[in-house]
Amino acid sequence: CYILGIESSCDDTAAAVINNGVILSNEVATQKIHEEYGGVVPELASRAHQQNIVPVVNQALKKANIDKKQLSAIAFTRGPGLMGSLLVGTSFAKSLAYGLDIPLIDVNHMQAHILAHFIKDEGHSTPKFPFLALTISGGHTQIVKVSSYFEQEVIGQTIDDAVGEAFDKSAKILGLPYPGGPLIDTYAKEGDPKRFKFPKPRVAPLDFSFSGLKTSVLYFVEKNVLENPNFIVENMNDVCASLQFTIVSYLMDKLKNAVAHTGIKEVAIGGGVSANSGIRAALLEAENKYGWTVHIPKFEYCTDNAGMIAIVGELKYKEDMYAENNVAANARMKL
Ligand code: ATP
Ligand code: FE
Repeated sequence: CYILGIESSCDDTAAAVINNGVILSNEVATQKIHEEYGGVVPELASRAHQQNIVPVVNQALKKANIDKKQLSAIAFTRGPGLMGSLLVGTSFAKSLAYGLDIPLIDVNHMQAHILAHFIKDEGHSTPKFPFLALTISGGHTQIVKVSSYFEQEVIGQTIDDAVGEAFDKSAKILGLPYPGGPLIDTYAKEGDPKRFKFPKPRVAPLDFSFSGLKTSVLYFVEKNVLENPNFIVENMNDVCASLQFTIVSYLMDKLKNAVAHTGIKEVAIGGGVSANSGIRAALLEAENKYGWTVHIPKFEYCTDNAGMIAIVGELKYKEDMYAENNVAANARMKL
């Protein structure tokens, strides 16, 4: 059966069609408008979703080579995310499901970042239950114990900023455009990770804190620029490499604590920051060093995408886990 997934929680409008675990199309319209503001402007995001949603859905159906009448269900992101953005996807999904007289399935965006691992894909291994999921994204940083598809327990999380925010805000201080995370990754590849030291905040063993990092980056930059106005330009690679090294080793420290705490060595990552080459390399190293089994999603299923919404839709469809007709978007939806 064919299931359509729709994602509109933040600034990407996405649609995908899945059939029996296989993604037939995975379309995304990224909103460029936010770059000039250095961050996502909710009102503009909502308007762009309204413009993009019909063409993106049509494109997904076309690429999958099916007609909307062949769909068995519509899955959509109910939350968490920006209310104005979620409302567009939610209203659209409800109307389409109603019009086609097929079931509507609500999906938690963070659960989808984790269950993206169950998309059938050559060369990608599927995690075995129970496993630990490190979800690292623009809005979240969590360690989740996943006992089955729908049994997910948050065992550690950030007490302030998300790791993606730490990347993006540090990048902004370095004068890089939004979103700066991928750019830090690019510069880091050419730099010396041991050149500069940044602090790793002390919190509970499985929790994270990132708000102090951006402050220390700010002081670090201000101090050095005072001595040499060209400091950033001359040292961009080393600064990015050192910053990324700090963040990655902090994430790995927490993951090691979680493995020790639960005894689970099956580890999966998810969320936009899992596209980062540093964390990917560190996890592969841990596989050999500590005997973990590591699962890293394909690039296109790391950042926001509708493929992950479609797979959760399919898993829920098989269990008849449908949404009510009056389901509402939930900006603060919990796992
Ligand atoms: P959430 O999923 O918590 O609602 P979101 O949907 O905004 O947040 P994602 O799209 O999952 O977040 O991830 C976006 C984040 O990932 C941004 O902060 C971006 O900078 C970061 N990111 C993407 N690629 C990389 C990379 N290669 N290195 C570091 N950060 C990256
Ligand atoms: Fe996301």
